[in-house]
Formats: sequence, structure tokens, C-alpha cells
Amino acid sequence: MPTKAATKKPAAKKKAPAKAAAKKSTRAKAPAKARSSAAATGEFKNFEPYKPKRGEEYMSDAQLEHFRKILLRWKSELMEEVDRTVTHMKDEAANFPDPADRATQEEEFSLELRTRDRERKLIKKIDSTIERIDQDDYGFCDACGVEIGIKRLEARPTATLCIDCKTLAEIKEKQELG
Ligand SMILES: [Zn+2]
Repeated sequence: MPTKAATKKPAAKKKAPAKAAAKKSTRAKAPAKARSSAAATGEFKNFEPYKPKRGEEYMSDAQLEHFRKILLRWKSELMEEVDRTVTHMKDEAANFPDPADRATQEEEFSLELRTRDRERKLIKKIDSTIERIDQDDYGFCDACGVEIGIKRLEARPTATLCIDCKTLAEIKEKQELG
């Protein structure tokens, strides 16, 4: 990770990468952000797709266990991500005499804080999803009751709506917004 190497360098050299990052803003941060946002957007892919046995019941114990594992691993990745940012921000919280550098740092921090906030919300959602697995109330659409489906749940393990109801909800949301 480039940022870790940068923090070990003397303070005088620390300024340069921060400034460069500010000028390119979103582009310069892409590598680090891409990793955290992959976890933060619900596109968690760190698992083997589930292959149901022939005639296996939907949301069998094995399937529930499969999704519990995905959710737990996803959660621990997110929590690591949060820890890493807090450490990073402590390391970087230097006093920059130059107001431009200071502004850059503040901008960077507020962006990171927003990402952390999103991740914390997601962790809460993961927790409540695990609770539903515990109560054997997982994998069915909250709106119409149909099976959400293994594939869709693997793509979005916290989904509570089937794809049709989700699409409808999104259309309604758009109409309400404008
Ligand atoms: Zn539905």
C-alpha cells in the first residue's frame, strides 16, 4: 500500500504525495478507494458460489450457513477497513503550516469520514441480516414473499427485496425525488 510507505518517510517528504493527490483528487485516490468501496457497496465477492444439491430445499441449513459465512467475512473486512482509516488519520494528522496543505488534508479526512460512515451503516445492516438468518427469516422478499434467489443474494447478501420489487422501489424513489 503506497500510503503506508509514505507515512514512514520524514515529514518533509510527506507533503508532496498529499498535494499531488489533491490536484488529481478522485483519480489519484482510485486504487485505495476502489478496494474499500468494493466492500462498501455490497459487491462482496470473496467466496465460492453455492452449488445446491439436486432437490435441495431453498434456504436449507447449508445455504443459511453459506450466507452467514459470507456476511461475517464481509463484516470483518469492513471493520478492518474502519480500523485502517482511523490509524491512517492519526498518522497523518500532522500540523501543516501551509493553509493549502491543511485544506487538502481536511478535505481528505472528510472524504474518509464519509466512507467510514457508510461502512458503519453497512455493518449495522449486515448485523441485522445475520439476525434474520438466526431467526430463519432470510432469503424471501419482504414485499411479495417470493424467493430472492441464491444468485441475487450472493451478489447482494443484505437484499431484502426480490429483483422485481427492488426495481419498482427504485422507480418510485426516483419519482418522489423529482
Ligand atoms: Zn418481491
